[in-house]
Amino acid sequence: MTVKETLTASCKGLRNSVLKIRLLARERDLSAAEKTYIVAAEHNDLYTLATTARKSEHLLPDRDGAHLRALYSAGLVGRKDGRSKYDELKARAPFGRCLLCGNSEIGSLDHHLPKDTLPLYTICPVNLVPACGKCNQMKGDRIGATAGQRTLHPYYDRPGQTGRYLFADITSWPVQFRIQTSPEWDAELHDRVEYHFRTFKLAQRYAEFCISVVTANQWLHQKIRRESGAPALTAHLQEDAEQHAGTHGINAWDTALRYGLADSAWYVHQGVFESP
Ligand SMILES: [Zn+2]
Repeated sequence: MTVKETLTASCKGLRNSVLKIRLLARERDLSAAEKTYIVAAEHNDLYTLATTARKSEHLLPDRDGAHLRALYSAGLVGRKDGRSKYDELKARAPFGRCLLCGNSEIGSLDHHLPKDTLPLYTICPVNLVPACGKCNQMKGDRIGATAGQRTLHPYYDRPGQTGRYLFADITSWPVQFRIQTSPEWDAELHDRVEYHFRTFKLAQRYAEFCISVVTANQWLHQKIRRESGAPALTAHLQEDAEQHAGTHGINAWDTALRYGLADSAWYVHQGVFESP
């Protein structure tokens, strides 16, 4: 989807024809900005784009910034034609799970580069990331004080391409989640993955999410443990983890949980009989 499509759809129901003509006339600017965004994102350079825009904003105020923000709320989120584009963008999240925490239900679209600072990306599809309400609120309009202090952009930053990096250590309840740096990551990517993890409080939230998954499976795990022994339970947990990884990805929090359970001697011998 392109910004031309979101602009056309959002403007469709506008009653104010002067504003409508004015916004539609910005299509060329918005499309140019979209191209700049994609090139910058592909070269891991969105940070420069953001800081340059932030510094120059007081010199070059965008007169249509407020109109574009209003168009986002009223046109893209609130009107029929815009809303169908909005819903299409939300549907880009596999299994309807937030792309920032990987768990909670999608509430809205997060502006990766905030609309208050960078109004030209307000309705730009590549800048709109399906997110849960909590992640959206936690991120706010931060851009990052340094290149390493930036949350990940789910469409462009893929630390998981080099394999597993999210691990769950289980030697007692609660489960401890941690990031294990891949040797193929550079220092900036390492900082950003850690920053993302901290910003969205993922260690704490994942540990909380675990409780319902463990509770739902514990009856079966106890039965396997009692009737077939510890090695059978380990084999079951391993298979469950592999199956989950195949569906949800190797670095989904609940895949990490399942591998953590399979690798945990404590769980197989003791934890399986203790409530999380
Ligand atoms: Zn989330």
